[in-house]
Amino acid sequence: MAKTRIVTGDRPTGKLHIGHYFGSLKNRVKLQDDYEEYILVADVQALTDNFNNPEKVAKNVREIVMDNLSVGLDPEKATIYLQSMIPETAELTVFYSNLVTIARLERNPTVKTEIAQKRDIFGESVTYGFLGYPVSQAADITVLGGEIVPTGEDQKPLIEQTREIVRKFNSIYGEVLKEPQVLLSENKRIKGLDGNEKMGKSLGNAIYLSDSEEEIRKKVMTAITDPARIKKDDLGNPDVCMVAYYHNLFNKEDYEQACKECRAGQRGCVECKKKLIENINKELAPIREKRKYYEEHPEIVDKILKDGTEKARKLAKETMKEVKKAMKIDYFE
Ligand code: SF4
Repeated sequence: MAKTRIVTGDRPTGKLHIGHYFGSLKNRVKLQDDYEEYILVADVQALTDNFNNPEKVAKNVREIVMDNLSVGLDPEKATIYLQSMIPETAELTVFYSNLVTIARLERNPTVKTEIAQKRDIFGESVTYGFLGYPVSQAADITVLGGEIVPTGEDQKPLIEQTREIVRKFNSIYGEVLKEPQVLLSENKRIKGLDGNEKMGKSLGNAIYLSDSEEEIRKKVMTAITDPARIKKDDLGNPDVCMVAYYHNLFNKEDYEQACKECRAGQRGCVECKKKLIENINKELAPIREKRKYYEEHPEIVDKILKDGTEKARKLAKETMKEVKKAMKIDYFE
């Protein structure tokens, strides 16, 4: 029996960090056995707010592929492919753009939030490309016949937009496209070392999957702890401490222990941070090792991406044949 198809992906704007690891990558690895998984390296989408910095996007394409492979994505099971090399997506985006209104895009909560966050790039007036990225995302998913899209709560409105476009297309041209379902990811957004709700490169508060042991040590030492705690025997509050927060992600048992000892004033913050550094390194060591192999063999990384793109393009071509037939623009077929 054919496996259900998942389409997911990352924007190549920087290396992936532990926020991505707990938020999506771990789940992605788990899903690869039971689903037919397609992982998009969304370089076209990354250009919507990096149009004036194409080097940044190009430089990060291989990094994203290596991060995915290092955490355990198996190219025999999961297909990693490049968005810009599937021109059928751009074509489908044009057809979809007739099926969605500007007002609907402006009302999309995810787009609204992102535009507000990117005022430094767009000023008061957002580009047509950025406003329309949910439309091209709908094309990304449906051109491959994606049935499931794993996503966090904050990205759900984007998939809802895709579903609306699919319904409209099918109602006008006939039942051609699959309406994708959301698979809500278990993990919420991971906070940064400074306690910020978001972990990110621009915020300087991220732990990268590719960080060395020394980089991790330095970063954890700067993590925010309970500010009211001065001495080791002060009774602490782990609920306001980022070290405790990360203990909870990396080792539940150590988290319980840290909370107990912290509240009772029996644990020093330096000791607590050292334990966390040990746990992070234990988890990231095999990932780092795998990554090193791919860094030393860029030709393997390129081949995986090239083969994956060819495989994805085959699906995209099949979909477009059906789409054009339904839209009666398959003139010389
Ligand atoms: Fe945070 Fe640990 Fe210090 Fe408590 S002992 S404040 S949990 S670092």
